[in-house]
Amino acid sequence: MEKIQMTTPLVEMDGDEMTRILWQMIKDELLLPFIDLKTEYYDLGLEYRDKTNDQVTIDSAEATKKYGVAVKCATITANAARVKEYNLKEMWKSPNGTIRAILDGTVFRCPIVVKGIEPCVKSWKKPITLARHAYGDVYKNAEMQIPGPGEVKLVYTPADGSPEQTITVHQFEGSGVVQGQYNLDESIENFAKSCFEYALETKQDLWFATKDTVSKKYDHRFKDIFAEMYEKQYKEAFEKEGIEYFYTLIDDAVARIMKAEGGFIWACKNYDGDVMSDMVSSAFGSLAMMTSVLVSPHGYYEYEAAHGTVQRHYYKHLKGEETSTNSVATIFAWTGALRKRGEMDGIKDLMTFADKLEKAVIDTIEGGEMTKDLALITTIPNPKVLNSRDFILAVRGRLEKSL
Ligand code: NAP
Ligand code: MG
Repeated sequence: MEKIQMTTPLVEMDGDEMTRILWQMIKDELLLPFIDLKTEYYDLGLEYRDKTNDQVTIDSAEATKKYGVAVKCATITANAARVKEYNLKEMWKSPNGTIRAILDGTVFRCPIVVKGIEPCVKSWKKPITLARHAYGDVYKNAEMQIPGPGEVKLVYTPADGSPEQTITVHQFEGSGVVQGQYNLDESIENFAKSCFEYALETKQDLWFATKDTVSKKYDHRFKDIFAEMYEKQYKEAFEKEGIEYFYTLIDDAVARIMKAEGGFIWACKNYDGDVMSDMVSSAFGSLAMMTSVLVSPHGYYEYEAAHGTVQRHYYKHLKGEETSTNSVATIFAWTGALRKRGEMDGIKDLMTFADKLEKAVIDTIEGGEMTKDLALITTIPNPKVLNSRDFILAVRGRLEKSL
């Protein structure tokens, strides 16, 4: 069989621990035999990030701006324990945070739905893709503990010298707490744009919710920016695709989600997204079955698995013990990136290959062959538990038959 040719490279961001092991297996068994794989390789493994003073992370993000599409392996976010373990020069920032800051994007997390791994919520038949606005609000707050009676005010001092604006937050008669939050029109606009674009691209409805009835200025601003952008730039395209933009209050959205079928994108403010993404992913059954794509308003895409480096399995692997680590989300990160590359470069074969690889993965699981994490929760009787490598080989077997 002739290998599928690529014209533009993918930005490949390698990572850490067990996912780094899976990464290599996926390339060796599922990609290199079938594709003349062109990538520009960046090693985001913690050792090399440390060696380059994290420059490699910045370079990989800049390369994504150049080529448009990246695929990323899970990486360690350094903490005190990791500084010791890897003898790091510094507690380097989260690579995902660094990349997101450079690409200015929104993360869309989407579960991979297979028969036999049933969501806890019975009505959910299709995936719910969650988009979190990862900027500002409580995550960039200024807060104070108030020891006793006194007045707290919000003061805006315009840079152009025009008069100050002041409002009283609260006249304290005893002790308490206070918090200031902010967001930027530009950030909200970029978030809205990524959401509308991704909805069009994936042909799914878009839901957005805030608490604008209570927060008449702050949350209302989010609502207005979305509404204006929709009317001006996206309404026609949405109607043409037969998809809908739906705004409601956050509590109403939560109630509706529990009765919905899925198959739409749920855009959330920062805190709502933080909380709800954990709820949605655990209700869909497994973190190992959740993919994630960073969509930049400037048209760049970075695909990855939502889970981490699966450290506990890696230490077993290092001791020479067998592991049964789920590679599905990492495989789907590759298929997402390859499909996007194919779409951008007009290479149909690459897009078809991505579809066939995803189908091979799903058929393998639905055929009863899976890793241990899924075997523990599946409704399929007598599942066959495979180790990390054998699962990938089982997928390869099905893939080969389909090509
Ligand atoms: P994790 O790697 O997602 O693993 C947490 C637990 O979930 C695992 O111990 C395992 O449970 C289960 N699990 C996750 N993915 C699995 C898979 N593919 N197959 C089978 N089981 C899976 O999270 P963590 O332990 O909190 O973090 C480990 C490292 O990953 C940290 O250094 C963190 O900084 C990093 N991290 C990176 C990213 C990213 O790059 N996007 C995201 C999150 C965390 P059992 O042990 O019970 O089998
Ligand atoms: Mg969270």
